[in-house]
Formats: sequence, C-alpha cells, structure tokens
Amino acid sequence: MLAYRDLTKEQLEEELLKQKEAYKEICAKNISLDMSRGKPGPDQLDLSMDMLDVFNSKSELKSENGFDCRNYGVMDGIPEAKKLMADIMGTKPENVIVYGNASLNIMYDTVSRSYTHGVNGSTPWCKLEKVKWLCPVPGYDRHFAVTEQFGIEMINVPLLEDGPDMDMVEELVSKDAAIKGIWCVPKYANPTGTSYSDETVKRMAALKPAAEDFRIYWDNAYGIHHLYDDEANQDQILDILSECEKAGNPDMVYEFASTSKVTFPGSGVAALATSKNNIEFIKKQMTIQTIGHDKINQLRHVRYFKDINGVKKHMMKHAEKLRPKFQAVITMLDKELKDADIATWTNPKGGYFISFDVMEGCAKKIVQMCKEAGMVLTGAGATYPYGKDPEDKNIRIAPSFPSPEELVEASKILIVCTKIATIEKMLD
Ligand code: PLP
Repeated sequence: MLAYRDLTKEQLEEELLKQKEAYKEICAKNISLDMSRGKPGPDQLDLSMDMLDVFNSKSELKSENGFDCRNYGVMDGIPEAKKLMADIMGTKPENVIVYGNASLNIMYDTVSRSYTHGVNGSTPWCKLEKVKWLCPVPGYDRHFAVTEQFGIEMINVPLLEDGPDMDMVEELVSKDAAIKGIWCVPKYANPTGTSYSDETVKRMAALKPAAEDFRIYWDNAYGIHHLYDDEANQDQILDILSECEKAGNPDMVYEFASTSKVTFPGSGVAALATSKNNIEFIKKQMTIQTIGHDKINQLRHVRYFKDINGVKKHMMKHAEKLRPKFQAVITMLDKELKDADIATWTNPKGGYFISFDVMEGCAKKIVQMCKEAGMVLTGAGATYPYGKDPEDKNIRIAPSFPSPEELVEASKILIVCTKIATIEKMLD
C-alpha cells in the first residue's frame, strides 16, 4: 500500500469508494461503543472489590494515632493516609492534605479560593482586570473547563515530547503578571501519554514569574499508572516539590493526586501536596468549609494496601487489564494506517489515553462519522481550551472501558472514518 499522498486522483477515488462501502457495512451492524471518557473497565473495578471486605460492623476504626475515624475531626487527613498519598506522589507526609473522594474538586476549589480570597494574602483574582492561564495542548478538557468557568483567559502552549514548550512558558510567565497558573499533567499526560523530562521539571521549578501568586497546578493523576511491569518501560519524573524548594520557589506548586483509577472513581481518596506556607493558608479556609473528610474511606484504603508496595502491586493488576486494550488499538492503527501515512498516534507507557492526530481540518468530521456509525469518542476540540482545536486535528482515544475485542471493532470504525475524511479532504 502506498502513502495516500503518492496515489493518483483516480486511485484515491477508487479507495474512497472502497472505504465508503466498508463504512456502510459497519453502520449496518448497529454497533454501540463508548470511548469518550477514561473510565476503568468493569474488570478493573473488580480488582478492588476485596477492599469492601476490609471493614464490617465489628471493625476497630481507629487510626494509628488512636483517633476514632467514625467521628468528626482530623480535617487534613489521618496520618497513615497522608503517608500513603505522599508515597504515591513521591513527597513527604508533612506536605500533604488528604481531601475527599476526587482530585478534580481540589483543583476547582484551589482556583475558586484564589479567585475569591487570593493566594496566601495576595489580591483576590476577582478584583483583577484580567487573569490568564497557560494550557499545554492537547490537554485535559476538565482542567480547561475549570479555568473557563472563572473567566480566566487561557493561552495554548504546545506540549512537546518532553513536556510543555518551556521557552514559551518562561518567556510568558516572566513578562506577564496576569498569568497566575499553568495546568500540568506531568506523567502519562492526558491525552498524549507524555512524561516531562528532568530538564522540563527543573525549568518549571525554576520559573521566575512576574506574578508572586503564580502557581503550577501539577496534576499527577497518572503518577503510578504504568502499563508495563519492567522499570525500563516505565517513565519516572522528578519530584516537583523538592525541585521547587531547591530552586528557591517552595510555594510555587500545588500537586494533586487521587486513587480514582487505583480503586474506585468517585469513591477514592484524593490529596494535595504543597509547601508548609501554602498548607497553613489553605487550612484556614478549610476550617470554614469542613470538619473533615471521609476518614473511614481513608483508613479502608490504607488497611487494604498496607503501604505503597501494596498499591504498586495492585497497579500491575490494572496494567495487565489495560495493556491488551492499548495494544489492540495500536496494532490496528499500525496495520491499517501506517502505510497510508495519514495520521500519527502515541504509544504511551502508561495513563489512560492514546492521542490520535489526523490531517488538519478532519478531526470533527471523523468524530461525527464515528458517532453515526455507533461509536462515541471524546468531542473533537475537547483537548483544547474553549473546545477549539485550531487545526481541527486531535482526537482522544480512551481505550480503557471496552473489551479488547470491542476495541478491534472500534479501531476499524476509526480507521475507515479517518480514511474517508482524509481522501475527501485531499480531493476537495
Ligand atoms: N486529572 C486528570 C489528568 C484526569 O485525566 C482525570 C480523569 O480522567 C482526573 C484528573 C480526575 O481525577 P479525580 O477522579 O481524582 O477527580
């Protein structure tokens, strides 16, 4: 098979007819597949069911410092949960506040507090004429939705192979005091699977922002979500908190993580890691917001896993379920699209997504055609602020939920739609 660009007009037209025929056949099958969100599959959720047996009505629900977890109190988390979440993030327990069931609402809350009450005593953002934010793209749609909701102007920064374009980040934050933050998913990023290089982390930690209240929002959502068992096939990143400390910027980062994709999304444990200064300021607000989060769930997680090694072992069980799913998609794309040379895709070592780039101006059409054939993908454009992919070429593939067999079918649909949309564009 030749690359499409080397085909004559007649050959392209012939190929288009063939693919349209294949598309008709697919549509006739009445397929119904949802690959829109990075949800764990039911087989992954089964992995954590034993955690529900950790407690019964006779259980002793005391934390290691003797606190009765059934009662009010311990606003920032029981000590053993702090230790577990610190180990998950690669930081120290004294830097951690354990929150509730998910990390996205910690991020929302952090932006919201900065908007209404400022950052450690600085002017609340709501009183400023303009607040801006850096958004490495493609990125996580829900991050962009948070900053959009507060009317924050989002600036796209290209995500390169080793992290965000740091020349651009350094230049922008050092010149513009309206820039108050940056969204980062430093490991196995959503949707590209990119992990930041040591140099990127060090440059990020050493930023010299014009705004004293600039913060790095370090969403380490996939810090332990490897797809492979052997270390050679696992990405590692530097600990941002200690890098910020070393660079003389101890307060510049908020790190977020949760066990949503370790145990149960929506019923996990989430945490924030940051400097002592930041923790003090945040706790002042927290005392108004809550008397404490779900400590029984914190204790249940720790009793179940015992320590970080227990978590790591558990993550390998997830990897065993996820790996064949990623491989099913990648194998199909390699087989059917490589020669045609009309798309590129990532082959990540962890995380939950494959990022699929098609010919400029084709992504929306492909996603729509897939939908009409019974397969829902994340909306085209969702991986960019305001839902606007300036080149209309990025599609996020979330292979975690369907079975490997369904993923082969799903890939066939995506491939046929990609071929049709590309040829039509070329013939246009
Ligand atoms: N951060 C990233 C980068 C994600 O991809 C997701 C979920 O897909 C989340 C956060 C959500 O995390 P949580 O369930 O802890 O709110």
